Amino acid sequence: MSPVAVSHDAIVIGAGFAGLYAVHVLRDKQDLDVLAFDAAGDVGGTWYWNRYPGARVDIESVHYSYSFDDELQQEWHWTERFCAQPEILRYLDHVAKRYDLRRSIRFNTRITSLTWDDAESVWRATTDGGETHTARYVVSGAGTLSVPKKPDFPGVEDFAGEVLMTGNWPHEPVSFENKRVGIVGVGSSGIQAISEIAKTAGHLTVLQRTPNYATPIANAPTDPEQEAAEKADYSAIRDASRNHFLGVPYSEVEPSALAVDPQHRRRVFDDRWNRGGFRLFIDSFGDILFDKAANDTIADYIRERIHERVEDPATAELLAPRGYPYGTKRPPLETDYYEAYNRPNVELVDVKSNPIERVTSTGVRLADGTEHEFDMLILATGFDACTGPLLAMNITGRNGLKLTDHWADGPQTYLGLMAAGFPNLFMITGPQSPSVLYNMPLAIEDHVDFSVAAIQYLREDGKAVIEPTPEAEAAWVAHTNELAQATLLPDSPTSWYMGNNIPGKPKRVLVYLGGAPAYRAKCDEVVSNGYEGFELSAAPSNTPALAQA
Ligand code: NAP
Repeated sequence: MSPVAVSHDAIVIGAGFAGLYAVHVLRDKQDLDVLAFDAAGDVGGTWYWNRYPGARVDIESVHYSYSFDDELQQEWHWTERFCAQPEILRYLDHVAKRYDLRRSIRFNTRITSLTWDDAESVWRATTDGGETHTARYVVSGAGTLSVPKKPDFPGVEDFAGEVLMTGNWPHEPVSFENKRVGIVGVGSSGIQAISEIAKTAGHLTVLQRTPNYATPIANAPTDPEQEAAEKADYSAIRDASRNHFLGVPYSEVEPSALAVDPQHRRRVFDDRWNRGGFRLFIDSFGDILFDKAANDTIADYIRERIHERVEDPATAELLAPRGYPYGTKRPPLETDYYEAYNRPNVELVDVKSNPIERVTSTGVRLADGTEHEFDMLILATGFDACTGPLLAMNITGRNGLKLTDHWADGPQTYLGLMAAGFPNLFMITGPQSPSVLYNMPLAIEDHVDFSVAAIQYLREDGKAVIEPTPEAEAAWVAHTNELAQATLLPDSPTSWYMGNNIPGKPKRVLVYLGGAPAYRAKCDEVVSNGYEGFELSAAPSNTPALAQA
């Protein structure tokens, strides 16, 4: 006999930045009966799982934080310019306590399927504990980088030593002392981890396939004067962030790297390099992501800086990225990453020319038969980004339509928020929205606010169901693909932005590249035109009204 379903007005997936804010707004501002689920043991989302050494935010904490409550942003003190993972987790713990959110969250519980019930106009969610819950609305804060990529080489289970994943790091302290550590992956996670682990490991072997364009983060303790000035002007800072492509209040970008002389270009690159963070990427020249010749100028500059920092020229050359444009893979930010290769205990191995064949009981075997022996193997091999977390939930919409089938050739969404055939399912920072190319907490607030306003609009209008039309969805998909074609992004052979990191995944752009301001203007236009592109309808007459409506 199937278990009795517990009914709610809204189900929230996840207890990271998105889930916490969604619970707060739906429950405390809309007065709805809300239950959230998270597979993790506590709040934090990505910051709960990614607790590897060196894990750190790469947008200034003063910007990478909630803006919805001025008292919250005034009372919280960040100790560093770019805070490390434990401090972000403390912040989210503070948020959970401050708004009493944990009582509405079921931890250690994974949603294993979500099925739309057309007769009742509700979603039926099943959990790994065998429970069923129903709700008219589902707000997914399942994240964008929350499903670790499965290793694409065999044998991991044969390894006799410890295997650790940056994306699912143990809660207990990990010692690298006197250990032979191997690490696969030099994306943002690998680069942060390598820089830290190199300090204490007996021997660290970095198995690098595609070198990355990593640039300095320039972290520092919080300057009290600057903090006071920022807090005095927080709302203006947030406005400026929301009106910026990446969601940070930077304003010094110059139009073209090709329109200035080499000395001027060098001055700009040096200035942004020294000031750190994403300034080099997003606040130097506006054409580097669009014009290959402009991109070449910054790629040359970064290669030159790598050679200055790495003592052995052959190692430096191996670390210098070539053959794909800067910024088409998410640029990692670093502290002393390149200097790690000057240590006697750190070795760089090229697994592009000589790929990993398999993991063995003692280490890793490469294609030419070379064996590297380790006590510990760390996988920093990335994520099934953007679509992975949604597809993992086994979602079935109207008329038995499976999300896996609907997205078989890549994501199909309207505004990166909803999909045709999947009514009342709001995908916070979903594929084809600015998401990972925007400041996540702000992107999340924008999406949750849009979703909650839509729910409120439905309730005030005597309606219960919202769903994009197939035509609006098709137009959005075409628009996002067209925007990507105007950039250099499709030129990167291994970027997760394009789904290129997962064998068999459709090669489609996963983010909206028009920038957050243009995106928000489009959302505003949709709303002011009465939810243009959406169909709004009433629930069947025999179904109950929302609990508090
Ligand atoms: P990633 O950028 O996808 O990097 C994965 C790495 O693993 C790449 O170097 C990849 O090489 C390598 N790899 C995968 N399979 C391999 C194989 N079979 N053999 C050899 N190498 C292999 O993943 P990530 O570093 O976890 O970062 C993902 C995203 O998370 C970032 O881009 C960022 O958005 C976010 N993140 C942010 C921060 C932060 O600072 N706030 C920190 C960590 C992560 P190829 O490039 O050759 O495929």
